[in-house]
Amino acid sequence: MTTAAVIGSGPNGLAAAITLAAAGVSVTVYEAADRVGGGARSAELTLPGLIHDECSSHHPFGLAAEFSRTFDLAAHGLEWAFTEVEFSHPLDGGRGAAALRSVVETSRTLGSDARTYRRFFSPVASRMPTVADEVLQSLIHIPRHPFHLATLGMRASLPAAAIARLFRTEEAKALWSGVAAHTFGPFDMPLSAAIGTSLASAAHYFGWPVAVGGSGAITEAMASLLDHLGGRIETGRRIHDVRDLGSPNVLMLDTGPAEVKRIAGTKLGGWARTTLGRWRNGPAAFKVALAVEGGIPWSHEASRRSGTVHLGGTYAEVAAAEKDVAKGRMPERPYALLAQQHLADPGRGRGSIVPIDVYAHVPQGFDGDATEAILAQIERFAPGTRDQILGVTPRGTSQIEALNANFVGGDILTGRKDPLQLVFGPSPGFDPYRLSARRDDGGIYLCSAAVPPGPGAHGMCGFLAARRAIADLGGNAALADSVGAGTGAGARGGASAPAAPPASSNALSE
Ligand SMILES: Cc1cc2nc3c(=O)[nH]c(=O)nc-3n(C[C@H](O)[C@H](O)[C@H](O)COP(=O)(O)OP(=O)(O)OC[C@H]3O[C@@H](n4cnc5c(N)ncnc54)[C@H](O)[C@@H]3O)c2cc1C
Repeated sequence: MTTAAVIGSGPNGLAAAITLAAAGVSVTVYEAADRVGGGARSAELTLPGLIHDECSSHHPFGLAAEFSRTFDLAAHGLEWAFTEVEFSHPLDGGRGAAALRSVVETSRTLGSDARTYRRFFSPVASRMPTVADEVLQSLIHIPRHPFHLATLGMRASLPAAAIARLFRTEEAKALWSGVAAHTFGPFDMPLSAAIGTSLASAAHYFGWPVAVGGSGAITEAMASLLDHLGGRIETGRRIHDVRDLGSPNVLMLDTGPAEVKRIAGTKLGGWARTTLGRWRNGPAAFKVALAVEGGIPWSHEASRRSGTVHLGGTYAEVAAAEKDVAKGRMPERPYALLAQQHLADPGRGRGSIVPIDVYAHVPQGFDGDATEAILAQIERFAPGTRDQILGVTPRGTSQIEALNANFVGGDILTGRKDPLQLVFGPSPGFDPYRLSARRDDGGIYLCSAAVPPGPGAHGMCGFLAARRAIADLGGNAALADSVGAGTGAGARGGASAPAAPPASSNALSE
């Protein structure tokens, strides 16, 4: 029987394991931590009964990804919920801006920028199902929907700073800056508009869904499906050298490039070791979990209803903070992403006490304490919050790395997302997933967020790397067929275009 060893049980490792198991491969997953999930785990980080997301909280592509359309995670307990406002951006004096599900309704709140906002986002948002399929894969491919991709490409190829110049109001510029900053890079970088455009368009079509019970529910459902498909998981098992695993037909690595070199370097060619060694880490995150009595009293009303709140002030402030971080300087007022997932999933709280997860962008390997800077940004837009905080649990860059070797120096993106690394990953060839030259047997593949389409708990890196391995083994590249034939329950047996879920309160975008 064909065998596979998967190292790492993050969303991508599990997605790869499921995809391989569904195609009839005998799979074992080895996970260093004592729990599965990697960057999609939840825990009581502040007070008993309060469910916090340890890493990922916001899942813009949770519904759009082909992986989640191919495999029925709902049958294994995953449930998505939605907040009334997708994301918001408070400004001083109770002002601010908010993205609702509808592009039109969002634009109506942006005064003289209403038309510009509609013209920029409507064409991409209305084509989001096909655009998402083009974006959530290796960027080197023949597009199935070239015109839809071009609609995104015309906008995405620009620097984020160029898009900001289209808007006149402080509110619209700030709203753009908050979502553009997910790129984790300076706003004058080429392609830096790509992630912001895609994420905001996903918000307008799919919403930014919240995993009920915590983000850990995503990977728990994946682990359950893998078990159903006959796969095995060994937790508490750090792999120091892949030669200890014998000779599986497929070696699938859900690890960072540095770890690949450490544990699998002896099985790789010199060129592969060189390209892995050239990999550059990106900026880092400093995370704080808060227990807050009664929720955060935002002055900006729409932020009280928003699942994701982007903190940083004006466009100019956010752009400056991101530039500082990219240059290795800690900004006085960092950009931060704050999650209020209890608004969609009240079960995460305990009575009137709610869990809040927030992280700031900080320089790679930052060894200071950013807790106070983060609390100051919250207090700035929600005076009185400090009096309502009942628990604070910070996690610095070294703790983040200690809990997950993939996040080197606190780099939660598993590598700097500059155009070259984003397109090719650390692979030695044009195929970003295959690390070894051999195709037929004993192939070595990289499936972590270091390879396209990149970071996030969408599982697409694992799904695509496993499909590559299956194709190399001579399996059916049209995976959906083998999935349907091989397993029955637990798999959808094919990936149709994603449907937009109903918005909680807003009409769908055009
Ligand atoms: C604070 C923070 C906030 C984030 N917020 C978001 C968000 O809101 N939305 C979003 O989509 N993403 C977010 N992310 C990023 C997201 O978590 C990652 O992009 C995602 O988890 C990547 O999945 P992965 O499977 O590639 O790797 P990981 O999830 O990093 O999993 C890798 C696994 O491999 C294991 N491993 C590594 N080396 C070995 C070894 N030698 N032997 C055995 N096991 C090993 C690790 O223990 C880990 O469990 C966040 C991350 C952090 C840290």
